[in-house]
Amino acid sequence: MKIVRGFLCLCILCIVFGGHVQAQDVELTEPEIVDTTDHIYTFMEMECDLVELKARYDDYILCMPIGTSLDSRTIWEVIIGNPQAPKAIFIEAAVHGREWMNSWMLMKQIEELMQNWETPIAEGVELGDIFEQCAVYIIPMVNPDGVTISQCGIEAIKNEALRANLYKMEGAANPARWKANAGGVDINRNFMVGWGNRNPKFFPASQSYVGLFPFSEPETMAIATAFTQRKYDISVSYHSMEGAIYWNIGQIGELLDKTAALAIEVSQITGYSFGEQSVMNGLDYNWMMIDQNTPTVLIETGTVACPLPYSQWQEIWIRNKDLIKHLALIYVTK
Ligand SMILES: [Zn+2]
Repeated sequence: MKIVRGFLCLCILCIVFGGHVQAQDVELTEPEIVDTTDHIYTFMEMECDLVELKARYDDYILCMPIGTSLDSRTIWEVIIGNPQAPKAIFIEAAVHGREWMNSWMLMKQIEELMQNWETPIAEGVELGDIFEQCAVYIIPMVNPDGVTISQCGIEAIKNEALRANLYKMEGAANPARWKANAGGVDINRNFMVGWGNRNPKFFPASQSYVGLFPFSEPETMAIATAFTQRKYDISVSYHSMEGAIYWNIGQIGELLDKTAALAIEVSQITGYSFGEQSVMNGLDYNWMMIDQNTPTVLIETGTVACPLPYSQWQEIWIRNKDLIKHLALIYVTK
């Protein structure tokens, strides 16, 4: 919008000051799609942005529905580059509802990649050429119902039965802090590896309920199904709020070596330091690593309690804005 406003101002100046600047000399730049000014970035806004990104950059991007949440919101996968590429990277965000700033950051990152697709990066090589050989699969908002509860409250859940149950759950008095899905299951405790291991809840709540059994939730199944479609070279799970990279869960051998290398690369890109070794307790990245044998890191953005205030945006953006590009450049030749 700023660019459109700037263009209009210039036209007005031409008229007011006697046409010293010819309007036809001004190149109209298309307005940016993902708005990063201070506001709440909702699931609906993300869907609108995906439609616009697809319309504008049709040759570079695919948007695929990979599942539907309990409250009937689509779980979207964005594929950048050639789906037949020999290398593949997986990235996800907002497994926890209140961590929606990471969805926003990934969407803006996708737009910047599209804008710079034809930028030369070496002799005869454009940025987009990298993604012909290394596709990136992004799920920007794994848990759209949890995001909606965190942003708009339980009343924003459409399904009456779900809504009635949500009001009875532990944590209902403070929905902004919601991590779970609309059934009160913490998706990041609902994966098979280490399920129920550490401080589990066995009742629906705003966080930490492991579910009746592993993969009980549609959001968990959407991720698991998408992940098992192909072999990923690496994966990244975005969470918030410690400003750290978690990568060591006791894996061994080649997997340990490859994950350590990935953690160092991500640290060099983002500037985040390493978190301590952690136990396996049903997290998505535990399953990706151990069950799927895929080097995976968990990046915790932000430094204050979630939902992160807009004051955190600038630092998160600066640290993470080139992550996809740099990982693709590294892994295209690895
Ligand atoms: Zn989280």
